[in-house]
This record gives sequence, structure tokens and C-alpha cells, in this order.
Amino acid sequence: MPTIQVLDPHVADLIAAGEVVERPASVVKELVENAIDAGATSVTVEIQRGGMALIRVADNGCGIPWDQCETAFLRHATSKLRTSEDLAAIGTLGFRGEALAAIAAVSRVELFTRTPQEDLGAALTLEGGQVISKDQAGCPLGTTLVVRDLFYNTPARLKFMKRDAAEGAAVFALVQKLALSHPEVALKFIRDGKQELMTAGDGKLQSALYAVLGRDMALGYTPVKGESEDVTVTGFVSLPACCRGTRGYQHFFVNGRQVKSRLVMTALEKAYENQKMVGKFPGCVLQLQVKANAVDVNVHPAKTEVKFLYERKIFDGVYYAVLSALTGQDRYPTLAFHQPASGQGARQPQAQPLRDSARVSAPALLRPVEKAYTPPYTPVSTKKPEVSPKTFRKSTVSPENVEKSVENVEKPRQVPVENSRTPPSAPPPPQEKLTMPPPPPAPAEPVPPVPEAPREELPWRLAGEVLQTYLIVERGEEILFIDKHAAHERMNFDRMKQEGYQPMAQTLLAPVIFTPSPEEGAVLLEHQELLSRFGFACGDFGGGALAVREIPDYLEPGQAEAVLCEIAGGLLSGGGADPDAARDTVLHTMACKAAVKGGQKNSREELLVVARAVLSGQVKYCPHGRPVAITLTRAQLEKQFKRT
Ligand code: ADP
Ligand code: MG
Repeated sequence: MPTIQVLDPHVADLIAAGEVVERPASVVKELVENAIDAGATSVTVEIQRGGMALIRVADNGCGIPWDQCETAFLRHATSKLRTSEDLAAIGTLGFRGEALAAIAAVSRVELFTRTPQEDLGAALTLEGGQVISKDQAGCPLGTTLVVRDLFYNTPARLKFMKRDAAEGAAVFALVQKLALSHPEVALKFIRDGKQELMTAGDGKLQSALYAVLGRDMALGYTPVKGESEDVTVTGFVSLPACCRGTRGYQHFFVNGRQVKSRLVMTALEKAYENQKMVGKFPGCVLQLQVKANAVDVNVHPAKTEVKFLYERKIFDGVYYAVLSALTGQDRYPTLAFHQPASGQGARQPQAQPLRDSARVSAPALLRPVEKAYTPPYTPVSTKKPEVSPKTFRKSTVSPENVEKSVENVEKPRQVPVENSRTPPSAPPPPQEKLTMPPPPPAPAEPVPPVPEAPREELPWRLAGEVLQTYLIVERGEEILFIDKHAAHERMNFDRMKQEGYQPMAQTLLAPVIFTPSPEEGAVLLEHQELLSRFGFACGDFGGGALAVREIPDYLEPGQAEAVLCEIAGGLLSGGGADPDAARDTVLHTMACKAAVKGGQKNSREELLVVARAVLSGQVKYCPHGRPVAITLTRAQLEKQFKRT
């Protein structure tokens, strides 16, 4: 019969320590958070061998009084919490009183600390949680904690540690997160003697973002600002064209605390729907402020999970704030030429302080323009869409509502922006529709130069088309290259997405009969009604075959089978999860099929329709998130010709 015994306190401490101190990064997190709680404005983090050999965190905070130094290392000893009521409205980062005890239990710790009231500070050493020595010492104001030989007395844990480089990288990632969540603190990070990050500590998130991401990447971000009764959302999100292959650039903070939240992540990504490339993820630094009692942080010892009281309101708040930031911005990437790296001009490690960042040269190829473009001639593209924070203040919680607002934003604005003389009150012209017949066999004649249209008075000029794909437009001192397929695809997407969109269908003389795979056949039959909204009439022909009687007018009968199979594939691979997703799947395929193709010959009038839509600011990204236009300025061109 096994005997039940109360654990020896030292063993209990080691077990508890495992929950708080998983790896060097978790030690650094606790120590820096303590420093911030202590009111520090400057914190230096230094590690050696990934933090396994040494972690040193020095702050200029309030310090620990001489007689409380030992107490700080006892379990459940904290100065931040007294009653259970305090727990409901916790304002500090730490509160469990566990961290110092846990860290001390599994390492050798030195503490140097002095408060403003004391002339001499304290130097305390602990080993495995036991105080070894305590002396008076002349130390600077604030606290320095040195943690050596982490897990030296828990070999089992030691075995789980990755290589030093991996642990060091995890610490660096964590310090970056801390820098982003506390722009008011000047954070310095030194790894194996080399300084890798230094933030300004000026309280501006943008400064912290520049220091952490580097200038080039930070330029691909746009500010977010939204406010409702329940949540204030501020920060930066990446432009759709600057999304990344992983979610590693998503940073969420709630009341200054770094958190993980599926809810907030979903809301963020929903705002990019139909704007970014599939398989790419937005980056962000989003700071949510909610009332302290509307969020529960006491979910997990590592304190990164949060639970919100009003989930839907938080979702709406984030979604609309991000959506409004994305639709409000008006930037195309600019064409940049590769500059040979000269001296120290090449990209430095990301630890560039802000004032040095101007020296970092741009990478080759595309990067976002530095200045938001504001068309001088029309209020259309500068006008904020209806999803301003005002809307989200009133917003109700149904998903239909979310959908409606998306449509509001994405609906093309049909204002004739190319004519600067049109009075602002003029009624919008009927919706411009571009239907293009399939390309005729290309004649061998050379493409005639695009003639100037003397009667048009545009603030821009369609200079021509090259490679039968890219329009070239001159606007002031700027040249735009427009991908006609991408732009037209977006126009179709917006048009088809509108409520009341009427497809033009053609009835086939002889129905197209084909036999898809059983899954494809089933999913197509299941979505017959949806397909009819896009101009397809198809039904079961028996024996696993389908009969297609009507197709959209821009398709050839010979394309019907391939297009339907493509749609079926999209629906089967997750695109049919719910009615909205299914609609978007079909929309993506059909918008693409209805669009003019690169290599196809188009009349000047047709090209003008595309150019107008882009220059009016209605069309910024293709539905897959590729840019529809890139710009080249006179200054850039002159530089290449060495005129300047
Ligand atoms: P918690 O942060 O949850 O209170 P800790 O074990 O991390 O628990 O710290 C215990 C106490 O030690 C804190 O409540 C605080 O009073 C004190 N302390 C820890 N680090 C510092 C620091 N850097 N500066 C001043 N006081 C500190
Ligand atoms: Mg703490």
C-alpha cells in the first residue's frame, strides 16, 4: 500500500517552478515584467549562451528595501495584491508572487538593489532557493538580477533545453514583444556581448516598431485606430501586399500585456479577406484597451491566455478598426532599383535605433511608397469608408452585419474622377461594365501606338500598353504600371459581389456533358443554386455525369468543364465550409475567368476603363492580394540616368 505524504517544501517548489520557468525566455519575461511593474524607464537584458549560462536584467525602478529582499524570494510573496478584490482588477504585469521564488529554486541568483530612501543597497546571493549571503553594497538605484546556471539542479529539465542558439532566439523574440508592448521603456538587449536591440523609450509605438522590425519592414505597416464603448484598438497592421508566410509577426496586447487570443487573431485576419494572398498572414502590433474587469488574465500561470467577457464586441472592435485602416489607406508599391550595398549602408541587424534607420537601404524590387498618396483631384479615394470607428461603435453583433459592412467598403464608387471639372454633386454615372469577348486570334500586325484622345481632360494620361499586359499611365511626376488582369479581376470581384448582381448567361445549343469525380459532382450539385447566381445552369445527367445547359457569357462552352472542376476543387478544399466561404470561392474563380488576360489584345477604350478604376482609387489589390499597380517617380528615373 503506498503511503500518502505531504511533499518536502523544496520538492514542491521545484514542481511549482516548472510551471513558471520553462526556459530562459520565461525567466526574462518575468524579470522584465517585474522591472516594468517597478516603474523602470530603462531596462537592459543581457544573456550568455542563450540564457542558460547567464541572464542579467538591470532596471532603474523603485528597488527593493533592504529588509524585504529575502521575502521577495518566498512563494506567494508579492507587493502587488492583497485581497481577492484586487485580483478582479489587476493593473500590474505580475501578481502571483511566484516568479522570483521559482527562478531562485532552479538556479544561482544574485540580487543587487537599492531604493531612493537608502544610501546603501543590498547584495543577496541564493542557490537553489536558499539564501547564501547578504551584504550591504553600493549599487545604483533600481534592481539588477543575475541568474546563472539555469536548471543546474533539475537535470531532467536541462535535457529539454534546445541548443543555445534556439533559446537565445526565443529570448530575443520575447524582448521584441516586450519592446512593442512598452514603447515607454527604453529596452536594450545584449546577446553574448553584442547589442542587438535598443529602443528609444519615447512612448511612441512607431519608434518601437522601427527598432524591432527595421525601417523597410516598418514601412509596410499602416496605423490602426478604433474606439468603442468596450474596446480601444490602436497600433499598426501590415498592408495586404506586405503579408508574410507565417503568423510570427502578429503581436497582440491587452492592457499592455502580451497575449495570445484566437478571437483577436480571427478578427484581424477576417479584415484581410479577399485582399491578401492565400497562405499569407498579416503582421500587426495591436494594442487593445479594455476595462480591467472585462478581461480575465488569471487563466494560466504564464498569463498569456486571456478571456474576454464580451467576446463579440471585442471581435467587432478589432475587425472594424483594422478594416477601416486597410480601406482608408491608398498606397501602391513603388518600383525600386537595386542599390549596391556600400559600406555600412547594407541592412543592419534589426537592432537599429530609429535615428540610424535612414541609412538602411531599400531591398531590391518592391516596397511600399513612403508617403501615402492623396489624389489632388477627387474626394473619392481619400474619403474614409463608412466603417469608421463610428460605425463600429454602433455595430451590432450578427455576422450578416459584418458581411454587409464589408460590401459597403468594397463596393466600387462610381464617381467620374478622371474629369476634374465634374461638379461634386453630379449624379454618379451608371455602373461601368467591362465585358470583353474572348480574344480573337491575334493578327500579325504590329500594335498601333495608342493615340492621344484630345477631348479627354484627365489629370493623368494613358501612355500605352506594354507586353499586352501592363498599362503605363503618367500622372504628374509619377508613372504607374497597371496589371490589367489583376485590376480587372478586382473590378469583376467587386461587381459580382454586389447584391443584385445579374450574370449574363448564354444558353448552350447542346449541353456540355462531363463526368467529374464523385466528390466534385456531389459538391457541384449541392451548390447548384449558388452556381446559378453566377450564370451556370447545371444538373445531374445520371451515371455520375453532369449536364451544363447555361454558362456565363464570358466563357466558351469548351471552358465549362475545367472551370466547374476548379470551383469544385475550391469548395472541397475548405472553401465550402459555410455559405459565405462558398460564395467567395466561386467569386474568386469567376472574377478571374471574366477578367481580361495578360497577352490579350484590348481596345484603348477597354484599357481606359481599367485605368480609370485604378486611378480613382477604387481598385488597389486583386482579390488574391497582389497589387494592381506599382509606381515609379521622376526622381527615381532621373537617379537611374544619373541626372541627379
Ligand atoms: P509578482 O511580480 O507576481 O509580485 P515576483 O516573485 O515576480 O512576484 O516578485 C515578488 C516581489 O518582488 C514583487 O511583488 C516586488 O515587490 C518585488 N520585485 C521583484 N522584482 C522587482 C524589481 N525589479 N524592482 C522592484 N521590486 C521587485
Ligand atoms: Mg513578477
